[in-house]
Amino acid sequence: MDYQAILNEIAAEVEPLLEKGKVADYIPALASVEKKQFAMSITLFNGMQYSVGVADTLFSIQSISKVFSFTLALKFYSKDLYKRVGREPSGNPFNSLVQLEYERGKPRNPFINAGAIVVADALINHYGNKETAFEEVQKFIQEVSCNNSIASNPVVAASEMEHGHRNLALANLMKSFGNLDNEVQDVVETYFKLCALEMSTKTLSRSMLYLANHGIDPLCAKQFISPNQAKRINAVMLTCGHYDASGDFAFHVGLPGKSGVGGGIVALIPKVMGIAVFSPGLNAQGNSLVGTKALELFTTKTGLSIF
Ligand code: GLN
Repeated sequence: MDYQAILNEIAAEVEPLLEKGKVADYIPALASVEKKQFAMSITLFNGMQYSVGVADTLFSIQSISKVFSFTLALKFYSKDLYKRVGREPSGNPFNSLVQLEYERGKPRNPFINAGAIVVADALINHYGNKETAFEEVQKFIQEVSCNNSIASNPVVAASEMEHGHRNLALANLMKSFGNLDNEVQDVVETYFKLCALEMSTKTLSRSMLYLANHGIDPLCAKQFISPNQAKRINAVMLTCGHYDASGDFAFHVGLPGKSGVGGGIVALIPKVMGIAVFSPGLNAQGNSLVGTKALELFTTKTGLSIF
């Protein structure tokens, strides 16, 4: 298959849509990102990489970081993790407080904000302190993407903290229900530092290979997690990776995927490739509008989806 030609075609087809959508504006550092950007990369199991657009541009991975922190928490806690966080779609916005109150402080899944905050708390417990927890997740991301320069943007992280009232509210609510062991401030700070990690579509598409290959990196043969855990993570990505638009993403794209408000989306085709797209204009659910469309075009044109 001529992947480069397909990516070029997609870039041309989404071009007219680039002015649609709305850049995340809840913090100045994200609000100032130029909207009319597009990049898409794929990494195959033999290491071949194909890209189109601004594929080396670094952007805030935001909620895509939840895939990596969930991976490590599942590795360390196995199914005990589900005592604190569920694995069902929420059908609600990513930062909703209402359901969390009804469900007594247990978040629906690790990919909504409340769930990722619990996961950060579990990782702080495991590693002993917030600094090590952050550094170890960062190290893991560097390892799965074969790029040791991946770093968090301190301006974005600090700005998130300054405007983090809703996430602090989620954390406080969970603390009141006894579902947070560490100090609210420390856990939310760790969560924001992970959201503020910056990557490109090239490195993000590379980082998905372990999930596309039963937990084993097909290029360096390193086993990061068990095949069973990889299966679970893929399932949660498919059912919960796009918040209240997860059904829509499965319907249109047909792949496990995870979005972030920075405009990135990662996805993977089992046994074939890792994929990443970037375009900062978001739809009403906070997922990249053009990114979703580009992925839909990709699975339609290649005939590659899990269905
Ligand atoms: N840092 C963002 C927040 O906590 C991440 C949300 C997202 O990417 N959907 O609100």
